[in-house]
Amino acid sequence: MRGLVTKSTGSWYQVLGDDDVSYDCRIKGKFRIKGIKTTNPIAVGDWVNFELESSEQTIGVINSLEPRRNYIIRRSVNLSKQTQILGANLDQALLVVTLASPPTSLGFIDRFLVTAEAYGIPALLVFNKLDLFSEEGKEILQEYKAIYQNIGYPCYEVSALEGTHLDVLQGVLSDKVTLVSGHSGVGKSTLINRLVPGLELRTGRISDWSDKGKHTTTFAEMINLPFGGKLIDTPGIRELGVVDIEKTELSHYFPEMRHYLNKCRFNNCRHINEPGCVVLDAVEQGEIEASRYESYLSIYSNEDNRS
Ligand code: GDP
Ligand code: ZN
Repeated sequence: MRGLVTKSTGSWYQVLGDDDVSYDCRIKGKFRIKGIKTTNPIAVGDWVNFELESSEQTIGVINSLEPRRNYIIRRSVNLSKQTQILGANLDQALLVVTLASPPTSLGFIDRFLVTAEAYGIPALLVFNKLDLFSEEGKEILQEYKAIYQNIGYPCYEVSALEGTHLDVLQGVLSDKVTLVSGHSGVGKSTLINRLVPGLELRTGRISDWSDKGKHTTTFAEMINLPFGGKLIDTPGIRELGVVDIEKTELSHYFPEMRHYLNKCRFNNCRHINEPGCVVLDAVEQGEIEASRYESYLSIYSNEDNRS
């Protein structure tokens, strides 16, 4: 039988069969992405072939994986440095961010965007909790949005709580498969509940988002949108490490740096302190945002892949 993986817990996978029945499946055999070890070899969004276990009607075994159009992997920056496939066969990746309660750092946003670029997946940013903004806060929000819109990332501002501007977002999500990520507490579940009436995902699960030591069960789940399209809801991300990127390629994943590349004096320029570096010039001229360049340095040095 053939089916779409709609939920994963790491050991069990929920698979929606071509017959529209949902099956609980285990994995048989090895499914590996070459060179990368992930905690979940199969991800939500994957198409698989499976067999039913004879004794049970809705229990199956996945025995093969269809080729993926794309996927996105994250590395959690903890001692184990485990990597996880967040989703497969995606049209776009959406990051829910908040400027406060909890604050999403620009560094975290940039690591998310670099990861999406590296896997060739269009990314968009949704600034939530608009209702909490003071006049001053709204100005800062516009500055943040400008940073990202100027380099080509669509940005939206919403209040999931009050339902503000959600119609705009519906248009963006309609008929697409969208991976949805964000720090715990940014309002991802509240937003999804608003978009899918009757869904009732639990909200406020991790109000103590600052408690970084706490381990929460992680699973991703596919959700059908009533206006067409699907969301892949991923567990709240505290930290995000960039996986699998060669340092020499990092600048390619910053869209605003791309057109400066190959114009530096040295063709192996790292854009750190080399003379005749056009990227450094552009940062100095304000053509490349300082915060973006700081993220470049931070990811390059690989020391600070934390939010
Ligand atoms: P998640 O961890 O990202 O899924 O976040 P939740 O959806 O559980 O929301 C975390 C907290 O933020 C809850 O107390 C929500 O009621 C609150 N929240 C979510 N969206 C908004 C919003 O737009 N405005 C305000 N003021 N609070 C929100
Ligand atoms: Zn350079």
